[in-house]
Amino acid sequence: MKETTTNKKIYYHVAWFIIAIMVLGLIIDNPRLDDHDIVFIAHSIQVLILSVCLLLYPRYDTAILRWIIITAASFLCYTLFLFYPETSTTFIFLCLIPALAILYFDTKLFYFTLLVNYLSVVIIFATILLIDGLQYPFVEEDMIGNIFNFTASQIIVYFIFSITNGRMKKQQVYYEQVQHSERLKTTGQLAAAVAHEIRNPLTVVKGFLQFFEQDSSFSEERKEHIALMIDELNTAEEVISQFLTVAKPDKENVTEHVNVGAVLRSVTDLLHSYGLLHDNRIELEVTGDCTIAANNMELKQLLINLIKNAIEASNIGEKVQVIAGRERDFVVINVIDYGRGMTEMEVASLGTPFYSLKSKGTGLGMMICFNIIEKFKGTIDFESSIGQGTTITIRFPAC
Ligand code: ADP
Ligand code: MG
Repeated sequence: MKETTTNKKIYYHVAWFIIAIMVLGLIIDNPRLDDHDIVFIAHSIQVLILSVCLLLYPRYDTAILRWIIITAASFLCYTLFLFYPETSTTFIFLCLIPALAILYFDTKLFYFTLLVNYLSVVIIFATILLIDGLQYPFVEEDMIGNIFNFTASQIIVYFIFSITNGRMKKQQVYYEQVQHSERLKTTGQLAAAVAHEIRNPLTVVKGFLQFFEQDSSFSEERKEHIALMIDELNTAEEVISQFLTVAKPDKENVTEHVNVGAVLRSVTDLLHSYGLLHDNRIELEVTGDCTIAANNMELKQLLINLIKNAIEASNIGEKVQVIAGRERDFVVINVIDYGRGMTEMEVASLGTPFYSLKSKGTGLGMMICFNIIEKFKGTIDFESSIGQGTTITIRFPAC
């Protein structure tokens, strides 16, 4: 928060400085000032528009305003170049127009300005060369040299852009990773606390219910209700133990050699009848040697969560494909469904505790998956589009 306010302060200082220079350039020793001719008026209006846009930018940080600023700045630069031929240094501004776009870190805007600017300068130079009597002696006298220099300047600007942009992107990825692992850490701590708090009262209630179940003074109908309550409590306990697998550093869960194919077969067998509820077949395809270093139980839990989600996302009759195979040093598992799909936002929210779009969802499944994958040094990728389905790709180092 504090950083953004200082950034804004710096921005305003720079903006006012630029505005001051533009205004000074307009009024000090301007050969066109005394005539008040059309060029001077146009120049003044451009300075005014650019100044207003620069000052508005921090408040309305939109792509449109960025384009307007760059366009206004370009017009101003071209005005300086074309209508003040006696000042040869205005040519520098033309070289720097694409550099302005770098400041806004807008890739499209940069390439667009680079292209349009280059074409404009070439057209202007050609016009100067072809039409006699235009007064740009410094352009005419060494046309080739000028074009070379201009091209070189554009190449330099391009390199500055691509290097800066690459660094920015790397930093962005790094930042997202840090955020993600931070999220996982908090999640783990949260999980432990919540699970412990809930487990105790649940045990007490369940104990009493079991006690009532034995009590002969209750009617059979009541006892059925009690059995139902115990069932529900068992489900709740299940959720909690799922939680705890993430939270506690499992010493008993040793890392062993696990055959992914065998695990997948047992998981798909287990979920077969679940899929049949809505006529969703699970198609399993395993090729090659798929042995990884992981924990049998946890890998099972991971795959159950993913395949269950895939089935739940599918419409009636759609199949779910599970494909596992070897790709060089990795074992790759694909879980593919042709169901509802997710937006980019939804994909980004996966793994956030309690994030669920289902009426009876816990929103814990994906979080557990992320934890297990991280634990065994794997990676997970999502490819999803609304209405088309989702492909989840997991990679584990093979052993
Ligand atoms: P839950 O399944 O309990 O809702 P999860 O953490 O397993 O919790 O999933 C969170 C949410 O992610 C789901 O509610 C669903 O909206 C979305 N999701 C997960 N997998 C898929 C998928 N294969 N297709 C579409 N949406 C999915
Ligand atoms: Mg789920």
